[in-house]
Amino acid sequence: MRADMDIKFLSGVGEKRAALLASELGIRTVGDLLHHYPHRYIDRTKVYRIASLSEENSATFVQLRGRIIGKAFLGEGRKQRLTATLADSTGQMELVWFQQTKWVEKQLEVGREYMVLGKPSFFGGKCNVVHPEIETVEKFLSRGNMGMQGVYSTTERLTSVGLASKGLYTLVCTLWEHISDSVTETLPEHLVKRLDLLSRRDALQNIHFPTSPQMLQRAIYRLKFEELFGVQLGILSVKAGRTTHRNGFMFPRVGDLFRDFYENHLPFTLTGAQKRVVKEIRSDCVSGHQMNRLLQGDVGSGKTLVALMAMLLASDNGYQSCMMAPTEILARQHYSSLTKMLRGTSAEGRVAVLTGSTKTRERREILERTLSGEVQILVGTHALIEDRVQFENLGLVVIDEQHRFGVEQRAKLWTKNSQPPHILVMTATPIPRTLAMTLYGDLDVSVIDEMPAGRKPIKTYHLKEGMRLKLNGFMKQEIAKGRQVYVVYPLIKESEAMDYQNLYDGFEHIVQEFPLPEYKVGALHGKMAPEDKAEAMRLFAEGVNNILVATSVIEVGVDVPNATVMVIESAERFGLSQLHQLRGRVGRGGNQSYCVLMSGDKLSREAEARLGAMVETNDGFRLSELDLKLRGAGDVNGTRQSGEAIDLRIASLSSDGQILEQARMVASSVLEDDATLSKPENRLLAALRERYKPKNTIDYGMIS
Ligand code: ADP
Ligand code: MG
Repeated sequence: MRADMDIKFLSGVGEKRAALLASELGIRTVGDLLHHYPHRYIDRTKVYRIASLSEENSATFVQLRGRIIGKAFLGEGRKQRLTATLADSTGQMELVWFQQTKWVEKQLEVGREYMVLGKPSFFGGKCNVVHPEIETVEKFLSRGNMGMQGVYSTTERLTSVGLASKGLYTLVCTLWEHISDSVTETLPEHLVKRLDLLSRRDALQNIHFPTSPQMLQRAIYRLKFEELFGVQLGILSVKAGRTTHRNGFMFPRVGDLFRDFYENHLPFTLTGAQKRVVKEIRSDCVSGHQMNRLLQGDVGSGKTLVALMAMLLASDNGYQSCMMAPTEILARQHYSSLTKMLRGTSAEGRVAVLTGSTKTRERREILERTLSGEVQILVGTHALIEDRVQFENLGLVVIDEQHRFGVEQRAKLWTKNSQPPHILVMTATPIPRTLAMTLYGDLDVSVIDEMPAGRKPIKTYHLKEGMRLKLNGFMKQEIAKGRQVYVVYPLIKESEAMDYQNLYDGFEHIVQEFPLPEYKVGALHGKMAPEDKAEAMRLFAEGVNNILVATSVIEVGVDVPNATVMVIESAERFGLSQLHQLRGRVGRGGNQSYCVLMSGDKLSREAEARLGAMVETNDGFRLSELDLKLRGAGDVNGTRQSGEAIDLRIASLSSDGQILEQARMVASSVLEDDATLSKPENRLLAALRERYKPKNTIDYGMIS
């Protein structure tokens, strides 16, 4: 049997079930079913005694063995149910079915012995199991595999056509009988041997029908390794292609613009780390290869300035640059700070900003000036990727603060010139290493590990509602010193309506507490029109408003050095990395800054730990590690989205870090020896790489 055979031809499936398998689980071929792995296992060697069942067993799967000693239909019509009495040597209990009762009843023979699998529940001291899986002892024994049985994820609609976990299991059994002999290897023998991996056939057999816990572990390892290895092969090949072809634009000149800016307009001296990174970028841009560099630096470390200097270098060499930000607010802010810094240089007036809300006429004008080369630096949002944005000669792309901008999206920008422009991706540090290796695994990395001099560490406090008056007093003190305050409210999709209500109520309270004319309060949230958002941001940035009440739209990148207080309401509802990002909005000037975490009185232990960590440290790296620990495997910032884009079936970027590291090492050693994977012993790897290769990337072989 071939893996690409339509699932409907597998015996026991048919048209109707096939349609549901496709729509509910995406299973279209028998191969898809083969890769629908159990998410856990039940130990079928363990048989419980009826008398031993207690509340402790409720809601977990138990296996029983006993005789059916009676059965009956109870109730009428749609409410009809089937009950059967199961007896073993220790006692009796009820089994109950509400669905497919007629069909089940026919399977139950009074006096016969059955294996029963289900979750017991207790009513008035009596134990029963609703909708157990049941089969005769003979049939159970004849299957031979009495170890662990897989539990398959399914859906309600599939359950209603007999494809609960057990039904899927039965299909997999049927499939395995037909397909096991034709399972082929996907990894070359030399790797399987060297890494002591299970063969693909053994791995698939043991993931579905484990012969022992050890074999199951080895099967899981092999399958996870294969996926992560495939992903790394894909990513590293992109990187290898880039470094073996000499098709990078050259920026050899340090020209007048760069020099003028550096000597006459730089508002402060660069930190050592900033200087080092500027050098690293310079040497990339004269190497002849395309630069693909990730710049990591904690919030407030001064990444924007580094990007600006790189863009000036591009200008000096006759190339345009663009800078892409994740939000409209941030794009506009970058625009205004770049404009300010470039005042009086030859680049004055040659910066433009383009976002989704740029008006048609203005847009047309900007597009024209960009195409003619008059605009040297184009700042914007994702709108920059669109095809209609064409440059005269784009040489450098800067992507700011974007955690979810993977290889594929970046690759779209490569086509905006005859050769791919240099790319600089900037991000604050808190990205787990595993995610970075996968999303950014094709990039070289620079780190800014030094804060600008004169920064005072932000003081962080955790207050509960009872301290609100004190907080108000403190805010007034700071405002009296001429400083500004952010007040941030949580906003999540699931509770959006209520969150907005809280935000509006909070705003009202603040306006009452901080009345005109002494105080001016602004608001900023996602539902406002883009021009209102820009206006609110401007009023705050220019110091007109003392307080900005906002949602976490300001989380990323906003820079108002005069703001010294960040109040985070319902702080327990934010994740650690988000709290750290928000805190990074203050402490950007020379003044002592504060972050106040407001929370309810009763907190979960985890929330208490999170807020405690914030009070204790300002170090983004330590917080991101702690975040991983507290959340464990789960949806670390962005993991889920990127995981989906990468289509991992069994491996997880957040919990399989070690396997990922190994996969990466092996992949890079293989590519070092055979970059094009054309040696005969690597034939299978070329296919694997193809399967996992990031889409849209440029094939360098085609260009040069
Ligand atoms: P981030 O790395 O979070 O993007 P920014 O680039 O926004 O940080 O910089 C944070 C603040 O620090 C800005 O107000 C910026 O002007 C200032 N800054 C950047 N570099 C220096 C420096 N070398 N010395 C003093 N202040 C600096
Ligand atoms: Mg920034």
